[in-house]
Amino acid sequence: SASVFAAVQMAPRDPILGLNEQFNADPNPAKVNLGVGVYFDDNGKLPVLACVAAAEKQLLEASKPKGYLPIDGIAAYDKAVQGLVFGAGSEVLQAGRVATVQALGGTGGLKVGADLLKKLNPAARVLISDPSWENHRALFTNAGFEVSTYPYYDAATRGIRFDAMLAALKAAPAGTIVVLHACCHNPTGCDLTPAQWTEVVAACQAAGLVPFLDMAYQGFGEGIAEDGAVIGQFVASGLQFLVSTSFSKSFSLYGERVGALSVVCADRDETTRVLSQLKIVIRTNYSNPPTFGAQLVATVLTTPALRAQWEEELAGMRLRIRAMRAALVEKLAAAGVPGDLSYITRQKGMFSYSGLSAEQMQRLRSEFGVYGVDSGRICVAALNSKNIDAVAKAIAQVS
Ligand code: PLP
Repeated sequence: SASVFAAVQMAPRDPILGLNEQFNADPNPAKVNLGVGVYFDDNGKLPVLACVAAAEKQLLEASKPKGYLPIDGIAAYDKAVQGLVFGAGSEVLQAGRVATVQALGGTGGLKVGADLLKKLNPAARVLISDPSWENHRALFTNAGFEVSTYPYYDAATRGIRFDAMLAALKAAPAGTIVVLHACCHNPTGCDLTPAQWTEVVAACQAAGLVPFLDMAYQGFGEGIAEDGAVIGQFVASGLQFLVSTSFSKSFSLYGERVGALSVVCADRDETTRVLSQLKIVIRTNYSNPPTFGAQLVATVLTTPALRAQWEEELAGMRLRIRAMRAALVEKLAAAGVPGDLSYITRQKGMFSYSGLSAEQMQRLRSEFGVYGVDSGRICVAALNSKNIDAVAKAIAQVS
């Protein structure tokens, strides 16, 4: 008799993980992987932050028993996340208006939020930026939503189609969920200015939208507080909204899956009810979160000396990326790439949206062993003093 799974079709490969496989198989000794969204140090290595190593040592020495965590995670962790996202001691926290749960990375935070929203309003539609992080569409689609886009990137100006974006938000039906990148937009690196955020907040309020802020790169743009400032704007508006947090990049803890979801509610009572529903979403998906990564982050965030060290190390990553942006501009110009390259230093976060076509990106791979995404996205955080010359020369050759 036929297998139960006989009708299962082959799913398409994840484009970025597929790129990794291709990179690993490439025998070119000079190959450079600028595809993935991962920060590497100047030696091309995934860093172990010193603050994380210290916290790890502390935790391993204490050798605690491995009991189940509460469904919503480590209380001290959730509180530390709230302090980081909303500002310790902020009014919204004092008023008990934020429900925060530990989640499996930023992706887990998005999914728990999506599942909550689906239960609340099954007919709601989701708007993501055009373009957006690839997984946004897939994640919200798989949570049962119809997903469409709002205008965002403008290839002609290498900026944001702000008027069109605002018009789309204003025209969206009430209850529409709008996924917004809090900072360091992936893939374009183009962020809204504080004044533009003010208009976006007002548009969300006027149209009765449900903002869902994805904060995967806090600290990689201008700084921890600066990158989080948009949250303050949404709080000040009095709107209810959601924020997903990822520590994958900011603590270099990718595989530990450390993130969170925070839901800003109208009052304390509503927050308690929302939290109870979040717990059901978690309980029926994976019961409760893992311990180690969140313990590391909680230890670092709540130990003043480690916290200071983390802020310094995060600033180090931010500044190294900036230095690579400046160097790339210089080296591209020196290699004869014409035109205004200042967009590279204007873009925020780990990526540069190079404007290169899929065909040019393919040539970079096959002729030079330089691997970026077909959309033209390259990871600036994977450039270093050893590979940047070759990358700049290769880009110049295909430009
Ligand atoms: N959101 C955005 C915009 C991202 O770029 C990423 C990671 O690449 C995530 C969420 C997911 O982060 P995590 O690995 O913590 O799930």
